[in-house]
Amino acid sequence: MKSGKVLLVGAGPGDPELLTIKAARALGAADVILVDDLVHSDVLDHARPDARIVHVGKRGGCASTPQAYIERLMVAEARAGRTVVRLKGGDPAIFGRAGEEVAALRSAGIAVEVVNGVTSGMAAASSSGIALTHRAHGHGVAFVTAHAAEGDGPDWPALVRSGLTLVIYMGVSRCEALAQGLLDAGMARDMPGVVVQNASRDDERRVVTRLDRLVADVRDHAIASPAVFVIGRVAENALGRALLEERSELLA
Ligand code: SAH
Repeated sequence: MKSGKVLLVGAGPGDPELLTIKAARALGAADVILVDDLVHSDVLDHARPDARIVHVGKRGGCASTPQAYIERLMVAEARAGRTVVRLKGGDPAIFGRAGEEVAALRSAGIAVEVVNGVTSGMAAASSSGIALTHRAHGHGVAFVTAHAAEGDGPDWPALVRSGLTLVIYMGVSRCEALAQGLLDAGMARDMPGVVVQNASRDDERRVVTRLDRLVADVRDHAIASPAVFVIGRVAENALGRALLEERSELLA
């Protein structure tokens, strides 16, 4: 019997053309594909017609499949000699539990490989016409989650002091705490930011804002998950383009 394995594959942020060639090949080789939320359905066109496809996300009103069950399923399928693809939105190693899954699979003796994807924060910046780093005012970038384990939020003062561009995931429902955390940490009230919902998808929406208007803008434009926040001086260059688009949306 051939030995099975698991590939943790990034499906990219939405636009199916942002899938890597390596990810497409992995999908074409898979016997079983476990599909997470936020994966564009066209990506599955690369799967074999006889592949078993299991949706394990929590959207569409269903509770998400428990992590322990997913890990057991991957182990069982790989032990049966099958090639398993665990397909995740964006990059599997950015807030995608790749660390936990790789550890669980390795300790079960299963061969595991990670295939990178384009993370949504990078797609959000590109489609807003900005770069996450800039020689003049963005010496680096921090990928941050606004959703942390209870009582263990990001160290906003350290992040603000660092002067890095902040790309914040899972921030919509915690927008107020996030903005307050940054203000309390001393970030300039007029720090530019762009909020991008459904980055790289046909239904992408973008709001250009600044720190002291972030909460009101998210509310007034009814920004919903999935959305990322890019906050930092690099977002200044997003203004012209996105404001025009916002205006034309309002006029339409
Ligand atoms: N591994 C994923 C992130 C998973 S965490 C990646 O690399 O992109 C889920 C969060 O990702 C969402 O709450 C949202 O903040 C962000 N996200 C995922 N897809 C997105 C998209 N198309 N547009 C904007 N944000 C997105």
